[in-house]
Amino acid sequence: MTIRFFNSRIPAQRGISLKDAIVRGQAENAGLFVAEQLPRVSEQFLAQIASLSDQQIVEEIASLWLAGSVPDDVARKIAREAVNFETPLIQLAPSDHILELFHGPTLAFKDYGARFLARTLSHFLEGTGEKQTILVATSGDTGSAVAAGFLGVPNIRVVVLYPSGRVSDLQELQMTTLGKNTFALKVNGNFDDCQKLVKTAFADDELRTKLGLNSANSINIGRLIAQTFYYFIAYARLKKSIAPVFVVPSGNLGNLCAGVFAKKMGLPVAHFVAGTNANDVFVEYLASGKYTPRPSVGTMSNAMDVGAPSNLERLLWVYDQNVNNMRQDISAYAVSDKETGEKIQSVADQYGYILDPHTAVGCCALQRYRMHSQKHDQPGIVLSTAHPAKFRESVEAIIAKTLVLPPALEKLQSKAKHVIPIENSWEALRKCLLKL
Ligand SMILES: *Cc1c(COP(=O)(O)O)cnc(C)c1O
Repeated sequence: MTIRFFNSRIPAQRGISLKDAIVRGQAENAGLFVAEQLPRVSEQFLAQIASLSDQQIVEEIASLWLAGSVPDDVARKIAREAVNFETPLIQLAPSDHILELFHGPTLAFKDYGARFLARTLSHFLEGTGEKQTILVATSGDTGSAVAAGFLGVPNIRVVVLYPSGRVSDLQELQMTTLGKNTFALKVNGNFDDCQKLVKTAFADDELRTKLGLNSANSINIGRLIAQTFYYFIAYARLKKSIAPVFVVPSGNLGNLCAGVFAKKMGLPVAHFVAGTNANDVFVEYLASGKYTPRPSVGTMSNAMDVGAPSNLERLLWVYDQNVNNMRQDISAYAVSDKETGEKIQSVADQYGYILDPHTAVGCCALQRYRMHSQKHDQPGIVLSTAHPAKFRESVEAIIAKTLVLPPALEKLQSKAKHVIPIENSWEALRKCLLKL
């Protein structure tokens, strides 16, 4: 079966190929590409999944998504090379698990999507003579994952805009020490300024065509495809094949959306629990059925500081635009910074395991869900979206210990930074982009 897509804003635009969806990134009228039908895994695959390696699982799922769009051997190679690191499932308590999604090069789960998208996009551009420039604004994590994901990938270069003085030292090192086809622009402004500049660039038809501009945020369906892989891996690694509760620390809802896709593809899932920080637009939506986007507020789990989660639009298509359908599969809880800090402390004390703030939000959400549902024996799997060392300032302050940096981060400290400082103005960015 070849997967085709439609435009979420203009549903009459259908039958769109995977290639078009990935190469264009965003559909007309700021719409999202949504699959007309999701691929299905076979009964046989599920029955033997526990005996398969991570690599075999990743290849099988990629092969289903890319069937008819990419030759099967290429699809498998792309998946293998994208996920060339491990995805351990850690058992903390008899029914509580942590799925560590932070073993990729930038130590956050965004590596899965960014690395897969980079390779798929590069495949589609190969031989067309077309080249693309990926332009992203970042408050830290997305920029580093995207730059690292596309590093050295042919026909594509990456330009990351980040706000001067507002990303952590480690994040800045991750974005500025790669070189090759990656460029880091330090903007004299804040994150919103960076985002505004990127939007202006996309609205400039001449520039967009000239540079082949594309985006790599979770609007691009290519990222979500790769995020379905690890839901299957998690299920395969459970001691007993029982449908688990997946807990997803959520911001833009891309990760949750991928989980819902995995369920619709046939993965046994008991329920989804979304954990948000004080930016609780989605929690409110599930409770009231009303969607009220608002400006984001800063929290300790800053990669989830999102006030207008764009993937809600995709979720709504999966649930036939019906909030009641969504409520049957998904619960959501908002967690304060205070609770988050207390969770990091209590898990460190009880299990000697250090959570990052985003994962801690997930652990709090699971606890609330268990209290409400009274289902204490269902296996719970909290997606751990980042390594605690990425947020070491806040984590070290809570546990009063120094975190050991993983070798990948440690090595960065001695590397040279390549930074292009620019003024916060459209003219400055335009001039700079045309000169790169
Ligand atoms: C991006 C990010 C999230 C939020 O994921 P969404 O797909 O936007 O919901 C959570 N945790 C970390 C560490 C992230 O980088």
